[in-house]
Amino acid sequence: MDKTDSGPRVTIRQTERDRVDFLLKDVDISIANSIRRTMLAEVPTLAIDLVEIEVNTSVLADEFISHRLGLIPLVSEGIDALSYSRDCTCDQYCANCSVKLELTAKCDTDSTMNVYAVDLAKFHNGVRLGDPVIRDQHGKGPLICKLRKHQELRLTCIAKKGIAKEHAKWSPCSAVGFEYDPWNKLKHTDYWYEEDADAEWPKSANCEWEEAPDPDAKFDYNAKPETFYIDVETVGVLPPDEVVLKGIETLQLKLAGVSMELNKDGIEASNAASGGFTTYGRSPSGGNNSPGGGGFGNSTWG
Ligand SMILES: [Zn+2]
Repeated sequence: MDKTDSGPRVTIRQTERDRVDFLLKDVDISIANSIRRTMLAEVPTLAIDLVEIEVNTSVLADEFISHRLGLIPLVSEGIDALSYSRDCTCDQYCANCSVKLELTAKCDTDSTMNVYAVDLAKFHNGVRLGDPVIRDQHGKGPLICKLRKHQELRLTCIAKKGIAKEHAKWSPCSAVGFEYDPWNKLKHTDYWYEEDADAEWPKSANCEWEEAPDPDAKFDYNAKPETFYIDVETVGVLPPDEVVLKGIETLQLKLAGVSMELNKDGIEASNAASGGFTTYGRSPSGGNNSPGGGGFGNSTWG
């Protein structure tokens, strides 16, 4: 099949509840890396962002507990129904842009009381959005703090929609593995070694998926990476397939935004100069009246 017609290809190697391992082929390295970055930092999720503390007689400071609460993964399926607080018409937060959770715990016994994420009570909103992600065998979730006799914790949490570019607590991924050229044929990596790099560096498992280099072959200066080995591991707030699709969607929206702005400026610039109708995105000659105009002549964004 002709490569230019086939477009990018995906081969899924392994899937688990919180993980997807796949091969991405026939895309430019810039696209593959952009998808990695949008998955890590720009897929919206839900996380606790405001904590109103009424009583805290635990040994941990208010800020310490608030920080721990912010890092608790909350189910973010259906996040599209929620607005960003900054875009909402309300003053600070409302049901359209936040989910409220409450925590009330008091230790009355001589033994230490553990407060877990499962103790967070969500104000009923009829959906799973905002429920703490509980995956341990005891069904308790992350430990928030420990209380001794007579110590008490009473607080309200406001969870908001956000992205990890603003704070890592909003990242849907705990890690994204990314590798290309496992044999290092392109020489993008310099292996530090004592005596023999081949003996001292273990081979990547992805080497099985590519042909070993021919030691007698000449170095190919025009070779480009074609296959990317991507391993997405989520924190459980969104299923991994949704993280990948949302990552791609986010990237598309960003590119569409760039395209729109360029076209808008192109129309203004060319109209001002010659009264024409050409834009950066349509004609190589249309954008010559503005800085950087010519370079976008043949772009096919969006
Ligand atoms: Zn609101």
